[in-house]
Amino acid sequence: MSSSSRPHAVLIPYPAQGHVTPLLHLAKVLHARGFYITFVNSEYNHRRLVRSRGAASLSLPATDGFRFETMPDGLPPCDNEDVTQDIPTLCTSLSTHGADLLRHLLARLVNDGETPPVTCLIPDGVMSFALDVAEEMRVPALVFWTTSACGFMGYLHFAELIERGIVPLKDESCLSNGYLDTELDWVPGMPGIRLRDMPSFVRTTDKDDVMLNFDSREAQNAYRAQGVILNTFHAVEEDVVNAFRGIFPQGVYAVGPLQAFAASASLAHPELATIGGNLWTEDISCLTWLDTKETGSVVYVNFGSITVMSPGHLAEFAWGLARCGRPFLWVIRPDLVAGEKAVLPEDFVSETKGRGMFASWCPQEEVLRHPATGLFLTHSGWNSTLESICAGVPMVCWPFFAEQMTNCRYACTTWGIGMEIGSDVRREEVARLVGEAMDGDRGKEMRAMAEMWKEKSVAATEDGGTSSVDIVRLVEFLLAGCV
Ligand code: UDP
Repeated sequence: MSSSSRPHAVLIPYPAQGHVTPLLHLAKVLHARGFYITFVNSEYNHRRLVRSRGAASLSLPATDGFRFETMPDGLPPCDNEDVTQDIPTLCTSLSTHGADLLRHLLARLVNDGETPPVTCLIPDGVMSFALDVAEEMRVPALVFWTTSACGFMGYLHFAELIERGIVPLKDESCLSNGYLDTELDWVPGMPGIRLRDMPSFVRTTDKDDVMLNFDSREAQNAYRAQGVILNTFHAVEEDVVNAFRGIFPQGVYAVGPLQAFAASASLAHPELATIGGNLWTEDISCLTWLDTKETGSVVYVNFGSITVMSPGHLAEFAWGLARCGRPFLWVIRPDLVAGEKAVLPEDFVSETKGRGMFASWCPQEEVLRHPATGLFLTHSGWNSTLESICAGVPMVCWPFFAEQMTNCRYACTTWGIGMEIGSDVRREEVARLVGEAMDGDRGKEMRAMAEMWKEKSVAATEDGGTSSVDIVRLVEFLLAGCV
């Protein structure tokens, strides 16, 4: 098919790692099914991508029908670009300037005489300004919520929490007096959910809180889209996905785990395999280190791309890992500790020599699928959780913010594959939970459940599996012009 006659999808991720990755997966899947793709990165993140992978991997000729474009994020330049930007500041900037910046970019594409006409926009669920632009261009738009379905259901009910007077909290005492244990039995598809399991932005006393209002507004905007795409699979979030099908009759597509479909797309179209989405450079030496370890023996520790902790918490995790006596692979991002460089206690490094391996960024999916990996100590980001489910690895969860609270709740109860560490982490607790998860009865149960969810995730992506069916439905809908 010539480029000019191809359907043209423009994908617009929120500029953070956990959003860029799943949108890139979806872009590859659509490209393999005949779509011309424009993938819009922020200028800031695109520079980071180019630095981490090498420019060649991002410069496929436009005739291949997969191009990267960039738009500013509206923030002033900063000295250190190797960090995740401040999330509330970024959200405010994008809500204010995003529509104009995107309009400008798309006007350039429409008029360049080479690019096929845009046939649909697929913005991130939290880049809903793109819906205004799509309406002006008279092209359909589907939002892609990169959170878990349960997390998105949480955001969608922020408005009702506010309306019912449950949020914002009356005062700080609500954080510790049991108020957060209030059951919210009216949230569809989420029986037993408590206020504390909702995305963390409900934990505010400020009615003008940036994140509470931002996520509430973005979630409500999903009603305006021609469909909602979710990186989950039906079996793992059945009740919530079913509830969404009633809430968004225009179409809900549960197409996860997208990494599996993207991997198949790259097998069929090897040029796609060269397109990577990592904002940090991967240290692959940890895979060779894992090769030297026994099956299921290693504790893998990684808190994703945004979590920051205090030096005190870093030390508690360190001494907890020292006490647990097992080999561990710990990924410590350069910006993991708030406001300073992450410095591990000296004695800890010497004491764990030979059984501790450190990296600043790793190929996480490969690490999780490595036979030596037995447990994931995680912040419960949705991508990490889904990758762990797909690899059949149980988790010890230390949720940091946003819908990580909700993911942790599901991992520890509904899915039976997780144990939670208290937010004010203590070394004894780290050592005890890791020990129980690796050797105890609870660990045995979690491993069995993790294996079961892994099998279900594979089944979802096989021919006729729920996610495969939803990918076909999605592609047909997009090809038919979303009518
Ligand atoms: N990731 C990675 N290497 C690392 C740390 C993270 O490849 O060393 C990837 C991970 O596989 C996941 C994403 O970064 O796909 C993090 O997304 P998640 O939703 O788990 O958390 P966030 O970073 O958004 O908090």
